[in-house]
Amino acid sequence: MILLSIGSNQGDRLALFAQAAALLAEKGVKILEASAVYETEPFGFHEQPPFLNAVLVVETTAVPEQLLAVCLAVETALGRKRSVRWGPRTLDLDILYISGIQCHSEQLTLPHPGLFQRAFVLVPLWELLKERLPEDLAAVPERLADLQADVQGVRWYAPFPLPQARRK
Ligand code: ADP
Ligand code: MG
Repeated sequence: MILLSIGSNQGDRLALFAQAAALLAEKGVKILEASAVYETEPFGFHEQPPFLNAVLVVETTAVPEQLLAVCLAVETALGRKRSVRWGPRTLDLDILYISGIQCHSEQLTLPHPGLFQRAFVLVPLWELLKERLPEDLAAVPERLADLQADVQGVRWYAPFPLPQARRK
C-alpha cells in the first residue's frame, strides 16, 4: 500500500487538488482511493490561511525516489514556491507510507516523520483505512486519542474532487 498526503492553503484549494490528481495520473500514479477533504487550522506557523488536507491510496510502478520526484514536480507545476518552512503553499504532496519500506535519507524519510504527529493526516487516514490498517500503522488510533484537542480542529469539508476515485 502506498499513501500520499495532499494539502493546500493558497488559491482555489479544491481546484488545486483536482489538478494535482490529474497530473499524478498523467505521470503514472494511479489514485485508487481518496479520503474526504478536511479543513484544518495551520500547523507550525499560525499567521496563514487554513489548509485543506486529504490522504490518497495510490498505485505506481515508480520506485520511492521516482515517486518523490513526481510529487515535487506536481507541486512545482501547480505554482509552489518554497519560502517559509511550514508557510503558505499552493500544494504540498508528501509520501506518507509505502508498505515494507523504511528509509531515512536527506531526500526521503519513510514513513513520513509527521504521520503520527499531525491530526490533519491521522483523521483522513483513519477514515480511509480503519478496517484494514497496515500493521506498521497500528499506533494510529492511539495517536488520534492523544491528539484529541487537535482532532477537534480538523473538520470535514467536501468529498475529494476526483470523479474516477472511490469517494469517501
Ligand atoms: P513539509 O512537507 O514537511 O511541509 P516540504 O514539503 O517543504 O516540507 O518538503 C521538504 C523536503 O522534504 C522535500 O524536498 C523532500 O525531499 C523531503 N522529504 C523527506 N521525506 C519525505 C516524504 N516522505 N515525502 C515528501 N517529502 C519528503
Ligand atoms: Mg512536503
